[in-house]
Amino acid sequence: MIYDLIIVGSGSVGAAAGYYATEAGLSVLMIDSAHPPHNQGTHHGESRLIRHAYGEGERYVPLVLRAQTLWDELEQRAGERIMHRSGVLNLAPIQSSFIQNVIDSATQWQLNIEVMQPDEVRKRWPQINVPDGYLGVFEPQSGYLKCEQAVRSWIQLAEQAGCAQLFNCPVSQIGREGDLQQVTTIDGIYRGRKMLISAGTWVGKLVPDLPVAPTRKVFAWYQADGRYSENNKFPGFTVEMPDGSQFYGFPADNNALKVGRHDGGQLMQQPEDRKPFGTVAADGSEAFGFLRQFYLASVSVFMAKPAATISARTKILLSTPCQANPIGC
Ligand SMILES: Cc1cc2nc3c(=O)[nH]c(=O)nc-3n(C[C@H](O)[C@H](O)[C@H](O)COP(=O)(O)OP(=O)(O)OC[C@H]3O[C@@H](n4cnc5c(N)ncnc54)[C@H](O)[C@@H]3O)c2cc1C
Repeated sequence: MIYDLIIVGSGSVGAAAGYYATEAGLSVLMIDSAHPPHNQGTHHGESRLIRHAYGEGERYVPLVLRAQTLWDELEQRAGERIMHRSGVLNLAPIQSSFIQNVIDSATQWQLNIEVMQPDEVRKRWPQINVPDGYLGVFEPQSGYLKCEQAVRSWIQLAEQAGCAQLFNCPVSQIGREGDLQQVTTIDGIYRGRKMLISAGTWVGKLVPDLPVAPTRKVFAWYQADGRYSENNKFPGFTVEMPDGSQFYGFPADNNALKVGRHDGGQLMQQPEDRKPFGTVAADGSEAFGFLRQFYLASVSVFMAKPAATISARTKILLSTPCQANPIGC
């Protein structure tokens, strides 16, 4: 059989593409080396922030708003809760270009934000200890997504729509046969008129010339009581520290507050470099300075969730600094 489209890698991007392409009437084959969602993908780790007012620049806003529409649509079609409108609070020194971009992009696209002085932030969320000289920008319409649930739902919807799916089947080679795309797997060779390569972190193994830099990133869960929960209106957050380092996090779920560092990480050459959480000395402690400075003592005890604390980010090196994901953390 010759497919209209073969998708190599069925994680966040590939699973969504498989669903929408099948819905559009194409004959589609989705392939993955594992069975998404799984703990080796970039989609691993329960949750992802979605921000609308965008510190990386207003040019991303139309993409993010379109993505939000599709997330809401997915939630409806799947009948599962995927989007949590907890709101996101961005905190940064007043002179930060990031926070200025958040404000500018909201102004340009008429997004609903609240610009807050440190005392206003402290009054609204006494759990957060914001230093003077900072600015808070809260956007109530954004929040976070249940990323693994989203991948699961797309795959299920794609299958129901008639999409062929081949999982636990690595693609070892891609090539062409005349006008057709050819995909070689341990299961045999498949052919399609078009091919989408959405293989995430190790896409360079299939397309060696792509300028990607796989980076090991970790996040961790910290013990926190109900004051930090979404029920108590505690938001998702991004924080720029006085030294420029950046942290992000989510409202506590089951008394565990998830926090990650946005910058930094360790460059990886091979999949073996994706070492378990705790292998790098800073893994468990990199957020301590941030937690001490921005939170009251109640968030202090590190709670490892060993199976769910490492993920790998693919940095795409473009001429302008830009993360791979336009709806990024
Ligand atoms: C620590 C961290 C925090 C993040 N925070 C946020 C956030 O807050 N908000 C946000 O929007 N984004 C965030 N991101 C980014 C977001 O998670 C990714 O952009 C997104 O998951 C990328 O999806 P993908 O489909 O490219 O990769 P993946 O979801 O990893 O999918 C790639 C798939 O390809 C498969 N594959 C690879 N090689 C082969 C092969 N040879 N043959 C067959 N299959 C193959 C893999 O098994 C995998 O399932 C974060 C990422 C990380 C790592």
